[in-house]
Formats: sequence, structure tokens, C-alpha cells
Amino acid sequence: MQHVFGPVPSRRLGQSLGVDPLPFKTCNWNCVYCQLGRTARLSLERREFVPVEAVLSEVREALAAPPPQGIDWITFAGSGEPTLHSGLGRMIRGVRELTSVPIAVITNGSLLHLPEVRAELAPAAAVLPSVDAGNEQCYRAINRAAPALAFQRFVAGLIDFRRGYSGRLLAEVMLVAGVNDADAELRDIAALLERVEPDEVHISTAVRPPAEAWVRPLSEERLARAAELLGPRARLLGLARGEFGASGLTEIADAVVAVVMRHPMTEEELRAALGRWSAGEIELAAKRLEHDGRLREVRRGGRRFWCYAGGRYREGGKGPASR
Ligand code: SF4
Repeated sequence: MQHVFGPVPSRRLGQSLGVDPLPFKTCNWNCVYCQLGRTARLSLERREFVPVEAVLSEVREALAAPPPQGIDWITFAGSGEPTLHSGLGRMIRGVRELTSVPIAVITNGSLLHLPEVRAELAPAAAVLPSVDAGNEQCYRAINRAAPALAFQRFVAGLIDFRRGYSGRLLAEVMLVAGVNDADAELRDIAALLERVEPDEVHISTAVRPPAEAWVRPLSEERLARAAELLGPRARLLGLARGEFGASGLTEIADAVVAVVMRHPMTEEELRAALGRWSAGEIELAAKRLEHDGRLREVRRGGRRFWCYAGGRYREGGKGPASR
């Protein structure tokens, strides 16, 4: 399967069957912390990147052979920004006709100012937008959105969506040391969240290999401070652990690529995720894939991650202290 993966143990959505309707790293933002690496070219146009029917037929196939651990959510996410797919509404409605499993969409929220995007997301049971900045300067520094995507339009989109949306709105705040973790930045984010009124606010920090080598996660102390400032709906997310469902994948190489393409991992995490193969088999497969140019190693914070070879991870560069 090319567009459906998992189920994946998710910090927010239990066992989540992933639906990825985009070619690798199709996004209109270029977040400094993006675990998929830098965005080579910012995509501005909504397009049917992958045929809707091809995606729905894979969902149908996955639902016909449910994994033993079950599926709690069907989640649109993966290789970029799902609202860039012009057939997202048709895919959501199509999945709803196939199953009663609730549907979630993980989005950067950048296109919520478009009425058609708001209407397409309406049948989803949960929408999870990013809210990493409470002012234009910080938004430019952390999300590095396409220039046409003004911060005020992003804010208006979030507020308009909340007004008309009856599902659960779960905001994610990704914190990067020195970029959006100062008290003043956190207060601006809190003020924006107060206007948006999400049902929950999930705080996380950059623990996956970031696009930029200088990106650092927050200390526990700063995370606790963030939770305090971001208000009563905010909670810290722990790390998700557990096995990835790879039932549709019989070849170890395909399973390793399918996992790493959406979730770069250390070798230890990869062993835990793909428990049905031995540590030796996984190590050998990863080395072969590296040799064949399908995987690459990225070092961040003294740890080695297996990443998709197409990911653009920048070494060096200057962090916020030098800007
Ligand atoms: S983190 Fe999400 S929104 Fe940011 S660049 Fe990566 S895919 Fe795009």
C-alpha cells in the first residue's frame, strides 16, 4: 500500500490508521522542526496529487483485514499538508461511507481561511491544527510559511473554523528552544488560543529529527512553564510507544520505508515498531536500503535517526540566537 499506513500508536489518537494522500513533503510551510526535512518547494495550489479512488481503495483493503490491536481513528496525515489535496472532502466522505471509525485530520491549519476547506473538514470527528506562534514574527521564524500566507489570515481561518465546526478541535503547540518558548511568546500563543477556543491544547517539543540541526527541544522545566502559561486546556504530550501495524507489508524493506518515510526513528525505535522482525533483520534491511539510496542516517542531538533518503536535513546553519 502506498497511501495507507499503520495503524500507528499515536500520542493523541490511540491506534491510528494513517491516510497519506500526498507525494513526500508536499507542504506550504517549511517548519524548522519538521521531521520530514525542509520543504524543497512550497506548494501553494490545491491539487488532486493522488487519485481519490486510489486512496479509498487502499482504505477499503486495510479495513477488510483489521489488525489485532484494532483501529481507534483513521487519520489523514503523513507526508505534508493534507488540505493541499483538492479531493480531501471526497476522501473524508468516502471513508465515512466505509466505516464508523472516527476520522481525524492533522493539519497546519494554513488553509482554514478557505470556505471550501472548512466545509470539507466538517465531517471529520477531530481536526488537529498547529498553533506554534501567537504573532507574525514568531510564525515566520518557526513555520516559515509561504509568503502569501499571512499570519492574520491564518488566525482568521482558525477562528472561523472553530465557529462553524462541531467536532473536536485539538490544537498542537510545538515548542522549540529559543524560538517560541520565551514567556512573551507563550503569552501571545495563549492569547490566540483563547480566541480560537480549541477543546484541548497539546504541547510537544522537537524530539524527532528536525529539518534544521540547530533546533533544540525544551527542558522539562521550560515545558512545565509552557503548560502553566498556555492555560487550563493545555497538557504535555508524552512519547508514543508500541508496534506499528504492517500487516499489508510482507517485505521487511517495504515496512521499514513505510514507517520511516512518515516517522523517522532511531534503530531502537524501529525495532520496537516492527516487532515481527528480529533486530538483526531490521539492521540488515536498513543498511541495504541506505546502500540502495532509499534511506539515510541523520544525526541530531547525539542520536542517529533513520530517515527517508528524499528528506532534506540541513547541517549547521544558525539558530535564533544568531538571527
Ligand atoms: S511540520 Fe507539517 S506543516 Fe510543518 S513543514 Fe512539516 S509537514 Fe509542513
